[in-house]
Amino acid sequence: MRLSKAFLKTYKEAPKEAEVISHQLMLRASMIRQLTRGVYSYLPLGYKVLKKIENIVREEMDRAGSQEILMPVLQPASLWEESGRWFAYGSELMRMKDRNEREFALGPTHEEVVADIVRNTITSYKELPFSLYQIQTKFRDEMRPRFGLMRGREFLMKDAYSFHLTQESLDEEFLNMKNAYSRILDRMELKFRAVDADSGSIGGDASNEFMVLAENGEDDILYSDSSDYAANIEKATSIIELKESTEEKLPKELVETPNTKTIKELSEFLNIPEEKTVKAVMLKEVLEDKVNYVLALIRGDLDVNEIKLKNAANASMELEMMTEEECEKFGIVPGFAGSYEKKEGLTVVIDETVKYVRNFALGANKKDYHFINVNLEDLHYDIVADIRTARAGDISPDGKGVLKIARGMEVGHIFKLGDKYSKALNAKVLDENGKQQVIQMGCYGIGVSRLMSAVIEQKHDDFGIIWPKSIAPYIADVIIANVKDETQVNVAEKIYEALKKENIDVVLDDRNERAGFKFKDADLIGFPLKIVAGKGASSGIVEVKDRANGESFEVKVEEVVGFVK
Ligand code: ATP
Ligand code: MG
Ligand code: MG
Ligand code: MG
Repeated sequence: MRLSKAFLKTYKEAPKEAEVISHQLMLRASMIRQLTRGVYSYLPLGYKVLKKIENIVREEMDRAGSQEILMPVLQPASLWEESGRWFAYGSELMRMKDRNEREFALGPTHEEVVADIVRNTITSYKELPFSLYQIQTKFRDEMRPRFGLMRGREFLMKDAYSFHLTQESLDEEFLNMKNAYSRILDRMELKFRAVDADSGSIGGDASNEFMVLAENGEDDILYSDSSDYAANIEKATSIIELKESTEEKLPKELVETPNTKTIKELSEFLNIPEEKTVKAVMLKEVLEDKVNYVLALIRGDLDVNEIKLKNAANASMELEMMTEEECEKFGIVPGFAGSYEKKEGLTVVIDETVKYVRNFALGANKKDYHFINVNLEDLHYDIVADIRTARAGDISPDGKGVLKIARGMEVGHIFKLGDKYSKALNAKVLDENGKQQVIQMGCYGIGVSRLMSAVIEQKHDDFGIIWPKSIAPYIADVIIANVKDETQVNVAEKIYEALKKENIDVVLDDRNERAGFKFKDADLIGFPLKIVAGKGASSGIVEVKDRANGESFEVKVEEVVGFVK
């Protein structure tokens, strides 16, 4: 591209309404232009970047085994009524009527549409699992559209959906997508964290958000440097020890109900040596409502692996005593696998498999649960610690380290939807035994246009944007310092043509402007390399400057292509 012919106008200042740096720089560099609140056109440079981001996302989705489709923006209200979201989605859903007064939505997300495709196509478990994705414009009538591409009312999203017979298969794909998302963000050289998150209006049971660390992000995340724990503040929990603990008798029912094991029975059953105090984890509501479940006995001198070996044979009995479903049903946290270990020397005793132990650790990430001490001799309990909404400075819920807070910008969100949509929309398959089974679904979104803002938020300086090479609109800007100097012009033209021939994205700044002006534009727009044909041109030398680290090199004209590659 010759800048003399380009649709490009740069500005020294950004308009006042642009509050964040990414928005300011995108406007100053003519990458986008607002049409109306939260609705933008992508101008040539901006569109180049968007397409490169889109391409990275596409490559990684393809690599992860998902297949690309394209679904309609226009979606009939009837489908949204089936899922219950015509009402539930509220005013963020853009609604419209056709000439016959039929109602429609402009898709903010596509669970309904994709479930409709699948229910009308797939009949047998043999056709599962698979994954579909699209890169499509989405509409959300955001209450506060702002910050440019960060929160638009019309924006570009990649959304993928996976379909499974079993939870295990869904779990596997969730992990596969998590890895794909990490690769996508790595390729864009972003600093990010995957955090536990609430599932919001999309629903489902587990979800992870991908948070790009940025001061202008709209979310707070809590994380521990000493472990993998990281969660959105809405979801984050921590352990607090209670200074004053209350001693109370264990509920009678807990001790007496025959089909539940008493703590004493449990300790015998689990072959716990004569120790006066073991620890149990129990839910407050459980105690108050007198639901008779002892959830986990935890004891200091055993570690999880040891227990696993000891009790592997008894696993089914243990599960009889307290299944995962029961935990779920009563909103119970089964235990803290190793998490409290360091502080108190505690570990979980009830354990089926290592996987189950991992669930323990995850399960513990819930609010308003208590740690209690249970005394076996006189059957009283003593609440010693709570799990509560976390704040910076709290102990991480896995017991490893102190939580720190950081500002994050949500760029991706992956969900285990389970049967939420497939059930409502009746998407079923026949299983091995010829029985109807509701399909398990996952969904995985990434904000393609928002990513553009995210990268700039992380990569800029006082002079402008610093694009990573992977998504820069052009890799190199060949600058003719003085267009009146024929040698400079010839050298620059030669390099420009040579780079183009190698399929390297390159612009030629052949505008009749001062060199200083061109450098400023180059830095503002953020080309990774400036190749300047200036005074050295007459001796066959150009200066190559790296935008990211400011390094500069004298390079022979004929060696420029090799240098850039
Ligand atoms: P937010 O919390 O920022 O409103 P969300 O949780 O509503 O986002 P999801 O439904 O999880 O968004 O959608 C998946 C991804 O789509 C988000 O992670 C984000 O990258 C992107 N996204 C969502 N809303 C917008 C928007 N208004 N403008 C640009 N990108 C968006
Ligand atoms: Mg939202
Ligand atoms: Mg969100
Ligand atoms: Mg989200």
